[in-house]
Amino acid sequence: MSSPVSLSIVIPVYNEELNLPVLFARLYPVLDQLGRRYEVIFTNDGSHDRSIELLKAQYAARPDVTRVIDFNANYGQHMAIMAAFERVRGDVIVTLDADLQNPPEEIPKLLAQIDAGFDYVGGYRLNRQDSFFRTYASKLINFVREKTTSIEMTDQGCMLRAYRRPIIDAIVRSGAINTFIPALAYSFSSNPGEVGVKHEERHAGVSNYSFYQLIRLNFDLITGFSLAPLQYFTMFAGLTSVGSFALVILLLVRRFVYNLDRETFGVFTLLAIVIFLLSVAMVGMGLIGEYVGRTYQVVRARQRYFVKETFETKE
Ligand code: UDP
Ligand code: MG
Repeated sequence: MSSPVSLSIVIPVYNEELNLPVLFARLYPVLDQLGRRYEVIFTNDGSHDRSIELLKAQYAARPDVTRVIDFNANYGQHMAIMAAFERVRGDVIVTLDADLQNPPEEIPKLLAQIDAGFDYVGGYRLNRQDSFFRTYASKLINFVREKTTSIEMTDQGCMLRAYRRPIIDAIVRSGAINTFIPALAYSFSSNPGEVGVKHEERHAGVSNYSFYQLIRLNFDLITGFSLAPLQYFTMFAGLTSVGSFALVILLLVRRFVYNLDRETFGVFTLLAIVIFLLSVAMVGMGLIGEYVGRTYQVVRARQRYFVKETFETKE
């Protein structure tokens, strides 16, 4: 207990009873070999299975290096990570999934990059073991994200990442809710690096993410980091209103200057006027959206999760 903790491993846990024993067996030996003072922080994100019992048992077995945060309910992977971030004691923080898709044996690779001077090191999966659909969906999402935000990451879906402490402190201070941690970390980093890591199939169980949650997560990612979607909407509305106004002028000119369209004039004029009014309404909606978006950005600081209990030894 003499030297201060230098490495904090952060692991969110949601219904992982089948994976935890294997995770413990593979993770701790890797960390023990590093020769650094470390801690592992598990957040039990409202699991319905025996995960919390297993975590408590692990705490009893290795109380010097294990800490457990127990949520009262399920708040999602990113909130679970946030709760751990608020409590970390190490100078370098590594996030990891509990399902062994990120092999713990790859942690030293990340640490080597941190030691080389990077303040944020993202892993990207060398041989992705997800379904065809997941793989292509995330390629598309990467593309949209790079266009709408200034965040460049090879693989946003990989949670095996290492961060220097100041970045974690900045994330905690930002008090973000509905956030996507890798992107937030990226925006605070001054020297981000990347390294290829192995990817394995989920050791047991199925992914906790449904298609709907994936869409939600990516929506958070885009709306959380830019107001671009709103602005595109307003710009589009602006273009249609200019276009339809031009159409009204064209119809008037054809009718009264060239004396054309005598029979159909009424119908088309009406249509043009309706489109024009509609696009004015859309501009209005876009503007309101802009205000709502800005208000939303300010208002987000609220109670984000509730910790039922923690199991840890004092520093
Ligand atoms: N997780 C969590 N809360 C949730 C969903 C997931 O803490 O509501 C944890 C889960 O236990 C795992 C990690 O987040 O450690 C990644 O989850 P999962 O493997 O289901 O996601 P995928 O690998 O499919 O992205
Ligand atoms: Mg997984």
